Amino acid sequence: MTDSDSNFDFVVVGGGSAGSVVARRLAEETDASVLVLENGDGDADAPSLYDPTRWVENVGSAFDYGYSYTPHPATHDRRHPLARGKLLGGSGGINALVWTRGHQADYDEWAASGNVGWDFESVLPLLKRSEDWEDGESRLHGSGGPVHVERAKDLHPVAAALIEAGQSMGMPYLDDVTVAAPEGVGPVTMNIRDGRRVNPWDAYVTPLRNRNRLTVVTGARVQKVVLSGGRCTGVEYVVDGEQVTASALTEVVLSAGAIDTPRLLMLSGIGPAGDLAAAGIETNVDLPDVGQNLQEHPFLASLCFDANGPLPAPNNNLEGSVAFWKSRPDISRPDLMFVSMQIPFVTPEIGAQYTIPEKGFCIAPGLSRPQSRGYVKMREGGELEIQPNLLQDEADIAALADGVEIGFDMANGPGFREIAKRLVAPGSSMTRAETVSFIRDAAMPYFHPVGTCAMGTVVDPGLRVYGVDGLRIADASVMPTIVSSYPHATTVMIGEFASRLLTS
Ligand SMILES: Cc1cc2nc3c(=O)[nH]c(=O)nc-3n(C[C@H](O)[C@H](O)[C@H](O)COP(=O)(O)OP(=O)(O)OC[C@H]3O[C@@H](n4cnc5c(N)ncnc54)[C@H](O)[C@@H]3O)c2cc1C
Repeated sequence: MTDSDSNFDFVVVGGGSAGSVVARRLAEETDASVLVLENGDGDADAPSLYDPTRWVENVGSAFDYGYSYTPHPATHDRRHPLARGKLLGGSGGINALVWTRGHQADYDEWAASGNVGWDFESVLPLLKRSEDWEDGESRLHGSGGPVHVERAKDLHPVAAALIEAGQSMGMPYLDDVTVAAPEGVGPVTMNIRDGRRVNPWDAYVTPLRNRNRLTVVTGARVQKVVLSGGRCTGVEYVVDGEQVTASALTEVVLSAGAIDTPRLLMLSGIGPAGDLAAAGIETNVDLPDVGQNLQEHPFLASLCFDANGPLPAPNNNLEGSVAFWKSRPDISRPDLMFVSMQIPFVTPEIGAQYTIPEKGFCIAPGLSRPQSRGYVKMREGGELEIQPNLLQDEADIAALADGVEIGFDMANGPGFREIAKRLVAPGSSMTRAETVSFIRDAAMPYFHPVGTCAMGTVVDPGLRVYGVDGLRIADASVMPTIVSSYPHATTVMIGEFASRLLTS
């Protein structure tokens, strides 16, 4: 690379869900030169990346960083895997394809805590901008955007049973679960077109890939940002074993995700001074909240059933429907989400306690508004500790215990009654202590880490890192609180929000 090759107006670190959006909008709407550095493979190709029924195969594959969460007593010191996509499209290239938004109150709360411009009505145009909704343009939906979104089709009996059971318990039917205030049950919405995953990089950037002001380097691992006199002037990265410095004349945008963005800040000396000193890193900017506030959705894998006869092959994303519901009637909005899984999906600890049938299925209660908070910390020798403190807050256990009861009610109602031979795990009459122990054994992360470079403490509402000029963050790490639904569509919206600021 020559010197002029390594000077760009913008450097975008990470071509994942949000980075794809930033790359596209900068390339499309400005004359700026843009460098995208992506650590993953540029030619990733495997059936599991595109076939929605095979997404689970991506976990632990060559397209997954294969991180894990540090064990915690609240989940019986079990080690939870943490999948993160390592390819163009990032985690959006390997995820479970659910495309739903947060509740409108999630965004309104972000704004109420000082993040001006992030309330639901303000971000709605950006949520719509990303979308190509199967029913076309409406007040809530966009059409003609990069990401085709549609309801699950040809519902599997296990997916249909969740809807029937939920309705029999009084849950409203949601023909569209992507409404402003989802509360009820319906077919899940997904980023799928013609039966194939819509990967964010493919959707946003591939059509513009030949713009000559857009340079994409894959297999490029960024090691740190370069600081000079309080300003970020570029990044250092390694590609093919060679160390390269790329200069950013205007800005660097970090879109490396909720684990690697705080890691990069800390490796650059931006973070909690005490932790950095202990890790042998010189502090450039003492920013105590870098890596704090890690939030994750837990779910239970699971209430597992033996089927009373052969079921069709799994379809859609192995789920196909979803319910958003309250653990108690006196709370303002749903704090639980339920899916049914067309396979018998349980943790090894549950598998060791019960005989799990080969042809079974599950009802999986999950928390959409967890109260537990964790952290990402730099340890001595540069190791990263990723601790979500899953279920540490007793309120989370209480809500999930209510979720288990609701799951039992669903199991006994119409829908599941017709397809279930019997409940296999757990036993249906458990003491409170047995329920809590079951929850601690069955809990798993949804792979939704967010919040580690939160707006208000690490970045301002314009996504600029406090204390450094020329450095912004656009990814899931900036969410102050996790949205009470799947976070992908919101992360893409964050990419749109950053792009609007960068291009105006
Ligand atoms: C298995 C799985 C299932 C999920 N299911 C769903 C779902 O169904 N619905 C949903 O809404 N959400 C789901 N999620 C979560 C969702 O996909 C993520 O929240 C979202 O994709 C995060 O986007 P991001 O832009 O923050 O990070 P990512 O999309 O992870 O992008 C980060 C990018 O940065 C790159 N990178 C990292 N470090 C470096 C470095 N040092 N140098 C260069 N590049 C770097 C990575 O390779 C990656 O491409 C799931 C996630 C996983 C892993």
